[in-house]
Amino acid sequence: MIPYGRQDISQADIDAVVEVLQSDFLTQGPKVPEFERVVAAYCGAKRAVAVNSATSALHLACLALELGAGDRLWTTPVTFVASANCGLYCGASVDFVDIDPRTYNLCPKALEAKLKRAEAQGTLPKVLVAVHLCGQPCDMKAIGRLAKLYGFRVIEDASHAIGGKYNGEPIGNGRYSDITVFSFHPVKIITSAEGGMAVTNDDGIADQMELLRSHGITRDPEKMTHVSDGPWYYQQVALGFNYRMTELQAALGVSQMRRLDEFVARRHELARRYDDLLSALPVVTPWQNPGSYSGLHLYVVCLKTELLSRTHREVFELLREQGIGVNLHYIPVHTQPYYLAMGFQPEDFPQAQSYYRTAISLPMYPGLTKDEQDEVISALAHAMESS
Ligand SMILES: *Cc1c(COP(=O)(O)O)cnc(C)c1O
Repeated sequence: MIPYGRQDISQADIDAVVEVLQSDFLTQGPKVPEFERVVAAYCGAKRAVAVNSATSALHLACLALELGAGDRLWTTPVTFVASANCGLYCGASVDFVDIDPRTYNLCPKALEAKLKRAEAQGTLPKVLVAVHLCGQPCDMKAIGRLAKLYGFRVIEDASHAIGGKYNGEPIGNGRYSDITVFSFHPVKIITSAEGGMAVTNDDGIADQMELLRSHGITRDPEKMTHVSDGPWYYQQVALGFNYRMTELQAALGVSQMRRLDEFVARRHELARRYDDLLSALPVVTPWQNPGSYSGLHLYVVCLKTELLSRTHREVFELLREQGIGVNLHYIPVHTQPYYLAMGFQPEDFPQAQSYYRTAISLPMYPGLTKDEQDEVISALAHAMESS
């Protein structure tokens, strides 16, 4: 099976992890701060806080923005459930903004219209999670303008987008948002096995996320609410979690960062080749905003089902039968049973639903060979042939 995504591990990556295994610290040593410095410098952000997953980073980001009961978080329905669940963890309610049918990202026009209605009803959101689907940046300028106008905070879920650029500047520099979150799950652009990071230019936000990542415990006398009892002393000053990243993960992350630009360039090479090879087939290839540089985590095609005698599902099944590990990113979050139980209806977000009825993620990862890519194309051509 050719998977839709997979990690690329070099001997240098392995050596970096083994070195940590033989060192004094498996956790809470020097590698996590090093990984944070490397990512912050790469993105042009002031601070970075490494955690055990992007899901944890999203949770801490919401808490640091003081999202709580009675507040609202909005995001796109076409994302992984974690982009929305972080709001629920904080006791907030979650709502969605439909996607732009060209970029598949949250549509700024739909956002503006929904904000106008919410303002009239007194139901404005406190936090918006902008997801850079497939690595293509959202229209952050428009989102940033609306955030100022309506007074909400912005988290970029850049789980697909490390190594990408928006208007010539690295994703994560925080020009139009408060916090940006990355994922280092093995299918993502670089990996630390499991892992995530939140970057920000705000020291207060970063300090709060650091505190909450490790039980809400501080050893810094300045942050204690009472005078220290002695050198052994620590204080729990907030209710935090154990969301720490290990030294092994951070060492792998630091090593992978050295190849980040190469990985993304290779993804672009593969995407251009897909674009060419697919031009004769009845599919919509992903539109790329000429003003930005996508991380290209995913390469999603949408079937022109009106031209096919097979259904989307049949094409998908035939691809899997031919050993192509295609996937579907994503089942719209509001249609998950957990969300339907909150009162969402599948047709609440019609653009997300029509995307879902045609989308297929083709294999996309740096180690994908030309031969494998040709195999994907011929399997797709075969699957779409009229029966
Ligand atoms: C993968 C992913 C996450 C969650 O990442 P983890 O590191 O697995 O917790 C969140 N949001 C999006 C858009 C993702 O693709």
